[in-house]
Amino acid sequence: MIILFVGLIVIAVAATGCKSGKTVTGQEPAAEAVATDTTLAANADNPFFKPYGTAFNVPPFDRIKTEHFLPAIEEGIRREQAEVDAIVADRKKPTFENTVAALDHAGIFLSEVNSVFGSYQGALTNKDIQALASQTAPMLAAHRDNIALNEKLFARVKAVYDQRATLGLGREELFLLETTYKDFVRGGALLDAAQKARFRELNQELALLSVKFGNNVLAETNAFQLLIDNKADLAGLPPSVVDMAAATAKQAGIEGKWLFTIQVPSMTPFLTYSERRPLRERLHRAYFMKGDNGNEADNKENVRKIAALRLERAKLLGYPSHAAYVLELNMAKTPEKVTSFLAELWQPTLAKSKEEAAALQALMDRDPRAGKGQLASWDWWYYTEKLRQQKYALDDAALRPYFKLDNVRDGVFALCGKLYGLKFIERPDLPRYHPEVQVFEVQEADGRHTGVVYLDFHPRPGKRSGAWSGGFRRAYYEKGVRVPPISSIVCNFTRPTADAPALLSTDEVETFFHEFGHTLATLFSQGRFRGRTVARDSVELPSQIMEHWAFEPELLAVYAKHYRTGETIPKALVDKLEASRLFNQGFITAEYLAASILDMDWHTAPDPGSVDVRTFEKDALDTIGLIPGIQPRYRSTYFSHIFSGGYSAGYYAYIWSEVLDCDAYEAFQEKGIFDRATAESFRKNVLEPFGTEDPMAQYVRFRGAQPKIDGLLRNRGLVIKK
Ligand SMILES: [Zn+2]
Repeated sequence: MIILFVGLIVIAVAATGCKSGKTVTGQEPAAEAVATDTTLAANADNPFFKPYGTAFNVPPFDRIKTEHFLPAIEEGIRREQAEVDAIVADRKKPTFENTVAALDHAGIFLSEVNSVFGSYQGALTNKDIQALASQTAPMLAAHRDNIALNEKLFARVKAVYDQRATLGLGREELFLLETTYKDFVRGGALLDAAQKARFRELNQELALLSVKFGNNVLAETNAFQLLIDNKADLAGLPPSVVDMAAATAKQAGIEGKWLFTIQVPSMTPFLTYSERRPLRERLHRAYFMKGDNGNEADNKENVRKIAALRLERAKLLGYPSHAAYVLELNMAKTPEKVTSFLAELWQPTLAKSKEEAAALQALMDRDPRAGKGQLASWDWWYYTEKLRQQKYALDDAALRPYFKLDNVRDGVFALCGKLYGLKFIERPDLPRYHPEVQVFEVQEADGRHTGVVYLDFHPRPGKRSGAWSGGFRRAYYEKGVRVPPISSIVCNFTRPTADAPALLSTDEVETFFHEFGHTLATLFSQGRFRGRTVARDSVELPSQIMEHWAFEPELLAVYAKHYRTGETIPKALVDKLEASRLFNQGFITAEYLAASILDMDWHTAPDPGSVDVRTFEKDALDTIGLIPGIQPRYRSTYFSHIFSGGYSAGYYAYIWSEVLDCDAYEAFQEKGIFDRATAESFRKNVLEPFGTEDPMAQYVRFRGAQPKIDGLLRNRGLVIKK
């Protein structure tokens, strides 16, 4: 048994913006705002400049146009700066209320605009939005620096911080004070003038590079098409997959052909079923070569530059590496701790994935269509599916009819009802940013309003790949009254076809449960302040614990109904699902750990600016002995989590959090998986105060002890040899 968390520590989120980090939102009605008359007159048509006038004060998406963002962002920057200036100009002696709490309350208007703009960047982008992001990213970075490097403001914060022991502050107040102070120090407040100037330049450049990186990944994802016009090339594909490809072609304006893309819901079924090995190779190669094609969307230079500039920034602040800078605030604390944690898991994972590869190779050797050759990454899904059918007589196509999207969604709602008493009421009358988006009001058991959730399920050319939970407003208190949150979930799930509704893969089902866990943390959030500081490596606890319920027989009985007959998923199928739970875990864990290790390598490298990206990556993967049949889940040139998201030196956080969620779920298993008292305790001790204090203290209050790694090992079928 390994105890992971010995001296553990608090907090934090990387300085680069991220989905579940400290990006707080809220709407300040224009009536109370401090805009000048001329500004208001010039923006009379801009919906950001007046009260929204919508139910629950949701953003008026039906009235927001691209040209509204720039003036609103500029106004938001101006207002927040004015709020900060007012704090600095206060003649009264600095106190917690007039300085730290006042700062927490500044910038509501900007947060509100940014949350909408951020969601357009992720889910509704186009050339205009991208150009605007490139224009505003450096403006916003400069604005953040103007606050972080404001010496008079820092002096006030420091004055309060220095007296913290004698102020009699509550737990939440003290935590906000400590994290605010630390944010300043990490934001360069202790640097001299020349260093501060360079620090600003670095943030500017990094902000731009990160936007560029993300745009390139999207461009590369959209650029590739595998168009099939010959029926024979559809060999092996089940009818549902063929229909989906026909629908994709039709959407692209091509009738009578079949289109596959490197969006995951299109690519994975092709890799799973296609008998045409050269076509599988073409598709998968296009996927894992994204950003590495030597064209104008190539990201190699961006990767090098980002890693080098982050290192320079870390050194300026006195850290040996960007990883050391990031991890100081995480539960893990140091790069060494993360590296040894990953190494410990890597050995049993590699052994397991080698066993899996050998079994797949044996199948391939017996396949007359395969020809001679070594199992490659584009073969893995195909032979894994064959093996799954052999071993468990279970195939993805037989399961999907029981996972109609609407039923899965209602299953998630039912789970939230059983655990927390929540009710979900669809509100088609509320404005949405795209006609496909669904909107729900969430209520407590007694009918009190909890918040609003936006659900955006299917891929579109303007949507970033993957799935995430974001939102338009975080809960906070305004003069003692709770401002309810607005959360959103954005996915890239299988689309409906002409003949069938959207039928999800088990991966997609799990993803939906996952993202909904983030949303629950947003909905339940209770805390006086807008600022939340969540340790990156604890942020997946609320989300990953939800995955444990997804395929529990007791819950499947509630939601997994055949989309045509309404028949509940048969017990035989549930048993097979359970029996195959650990199947392919070596692969899943290996591709994930390889990406996590690559992330740590980039952010601890002594001179990343001068390396050759391909060589660097190859060396990293050779060192750990990754086998040829497996690619890391993300290669460097499209690793958006770490190069354009908030997960740099933090991709390991998912499996670190898994130690917590596996241990926490065992509390439910001990009492019954729908036990209301356990759920209430989880809500009160973990979800409601999430990000308002040390995560381990919260966890121990829920569980009565620190988590053990045993649950994680069992969950993945790994055995660590002592
Ligand atoms: Zn997550």
